[in-house]
Amino acid sequence: MIRLITDAPEFFSDLGDVLRLFYGDTQISLTEGETVFEHRFTEADGRWTDRWSSDGRESVLTRDAVSGTALEIKRARKRQVKQALYDLLKALTGMRPPWGSLTGIRPTRLLYEAMEDGMTREQAVAHVTEVFDVAPDRAALLGEIAKMQQGIRDARDDQFDLYIGIPFCKTRCSYCSFSAGEIGNGKLVAPYVEALLREIELCKALMAEAGRSLRAGYMGGGTPTAIPCADLERILSAAQAAFPTAAEWTVEAGRPDTIDAEKLGMLRDHNVGRISVNPQTFNDETLRRIGRAHTGEDTLRAYELARSLGFDDINMDLIAALPGERVADFAHTLDVVQSLAPESVTVHSLAIKRSSRLHEQLAVAGNGYGQVEAEGAAEMIAMARTRLMDGGWRPYYLYRQKYMAGNLENVGYAKPGKACLYNIGNMEETASVLALGAGAISKWLFDPNHRALRIERAPNVRNIEEYINRVDEMVARKRAVILSAPAEATD
Ligand code: SF4
Repeated sequence: MIRLITDAPEFFSDLGDVLRLFYGDTQISLTEGETVFEHRFTEADGRWTDRWSSDGRESVLTRDAVSGTALEIKRARKRQVKQALYDLLKALTGMRPPWGSLTGIRPTRLLYEAMEDGMTREQAVAHVTEVFDVAPDRAALLGEIAKMQQGIRDARDDQFDLYIGIPFCKTRCSYCSFSAGEIGNGKLVAPYVEALLREIELCKALMAEAGRSLRAGYMGGGTPTAIPCADLERILSAAQAAFPTAAEWTVEAGRPDTIDAEKLGMLRDHNVGRISVNPQTFNDETLRRIGRAHTGEDTLRAYELARSLGFDDINMDLIAALPGERVADFAHTLDVVQSLAPESVTVHSLAIKRSSRLHEQLAVAGNGYGQVEAEGAAEMIAMARTRLMDGGWRPYYLYRQKYMAGNLENVGYAKPGKACLYNIGNMEETASVLALGAGAISKWLFDPNHRALRIERAPNVRNIEEYINRVDEMVARKRAVILSAPAEATD
């Protein structure tokens, strides 16, 4: 266990994130622990100084004090105290994490901040390496993403994006972090559909009152195609009648074993232009190991079926560093994906959440799964980037998660003109999202000037039965956020 003695205990959780960049999923405490990191902060002559020490080494970072709003000062303090700790950890361990001192979900934001300050894209790329020690290849990746997002990043103030969650799956993947009550097995489909239809109807009135029109619609889960075709159609028809202005509709047909000609035909007839058919891997042994009830062959069949029915915008999700997989296994998956040539490919790095079955399995000695080394995960991610970019796909959005293999990133790649608006708006937080269904979290932007961005959230309850019983209350939560004056953001 690591003990932090700090003059900035308000940033305890952020400092813990920095420590985890170097020590992995370790326990951190303010009161106990055998390894001690000590921090002192002083302010003099308009300068802030953060001094960290541990194991006989020290790092000192002094910068001009920042003035501005309370929020701006807090952000600047947080950045400096984290950076000073990062400097010490780098010196102590000799490691350089790929994303440098950044621990947040959205590293692109820092690039955009620098560009809003007047830097060119190239200057901003150099800036994130210089200030945050981001590896040059990752900084260049951010630059590529900004290039792809040009002209399609922001929704208009009178628009919103829509998310509809269908929390049902045929079987549970071992890395899934939803609880049984959050991912149903199908028994509650009928009442869930009714609740969702009611939420759509109530939100139609709410959006009319708010003066907003739909930009992009997205149906995810769970696995939307796990429910009967007639139910899926009722939901889609109701949503499209309530919000008829979408420029784009995506439906995740994630598990290939839930896809058939009837469902695909129905989606096509409802102008769903973009679907996701997710192999995760093309190695059957791995698919069995992670509890997905399909084979690589099933994915190929589903993909060919979608092509034969005219779908010309298909995404495929892959996961690098799945348990037991080696670089050669991942290379095989990439071979197959490249030969299929979907319009977009999303490459995830496995994140093992504590609530997943996989976390338990890996904690049990001798389970035989073997976890890929951090270097192996990094090699897979680098291989995907090189091969996809050589093949004409371009990175268009990126996000990071906690507990990711090798401290890496998730990247969406797309062929030119095939970037998904919903993914960009949601990940970059440049579009308000109205989110319906169990566990869905609406996010409302009150000031689309990104530096002073205020985002208010309205979460729906995660448990399916709770959601069914409390759907009116879920809409009331949204109404309170969307139609009210925004509160002063604190973080
Ligand atoms: S498909 Fe997604 S939601 Fe369903 S069990 Fe697998 S990880 Fe969980």
